[in-house]
Amino acid sequence: MEFIISRFNPETDESAYDQSYYLEDTDITPDMMLLDALHAIRRQDPSLSFRFSCQEGVCGSDGMNVNGQNCLSCITPLSSLKEPITIKPMPGLPIIKDLIIDMEMFYRHYREVQPFLKPLNSSPQLENLQTPAQRKKLDGAYECILCGCCSTSCPSFWWNPDQFLGPAALLAANRFVIDSRDIDSKARLQELDDPMKTFRCRHIQNCTAACPKGLNPSRAIQELKGMIVKNG
Ligand code: SF4
Repeated sequence: MEFIISRFNPETDESAYDQSYYLEDTDITPDMMLLDALHAIRRQDPSLSFRFSCQEGVCGSDGMNVNGQNCLSCITPLSSLKEPITIKPMPGLPIIKDLIIDMEMFYRHYREVQPFLKPLNSSPQLENLQTPAQRKKLDGAYECILCGCCSTSCPSFWWNPDQFLGPAALLAANRFVIDSRDIDSKARLQELDDPMKTFRCRHIQNCTAACPKGLNPSRAIQELKGMIVKNG
């Protein structure tokens, strides 16, 4: 099986280039994930760099662009991929080395939406209760693992990475705006009322197609825009 992997070492290379690697059929098992294959390739070439951690689709470390689609390598079955398998770093952010990108801009936007609850009482003596309906509203909004697959597949983010907050940060913003326990929704919406931060989203929907957790950032941004307009 052939793998064409993008390589870049900032100490020796002026730009990224493709390198082919091969695994024999005997190296491949039927339930193998792409991350397992990358580990096998790295045994051939220890200089190949990529991030990984939990290997269970929970930590969000191993986002990469595979055959043109962002995904998590640890939950992408090798058997689902067409050969040759082309692996690149997720697009739109600077490459640190090989498949490792600098996620600082992504985290900066996440921090900007203040992704934490602002309750009425910050030192409550009792639980801050929600009705089942209020809690249900958060389904599909809180499960994000911050892998970055959505934001780095978004053309609006590629063109304005420093100004457009991107799907992941806006999904998080929506999650706190709609939380019945948060008292800061109005101010949050005012902060997001910006042609670049939020309204730069053109609902291209790449984000939703890329999300390995099956979330729908595009719909969350649409809801957010509606609430911003209502908020005046
Ligand atoms: Fe990853 Fe989905 Fe969260 Fe985007 S919304 S960062 S694709 S888990």
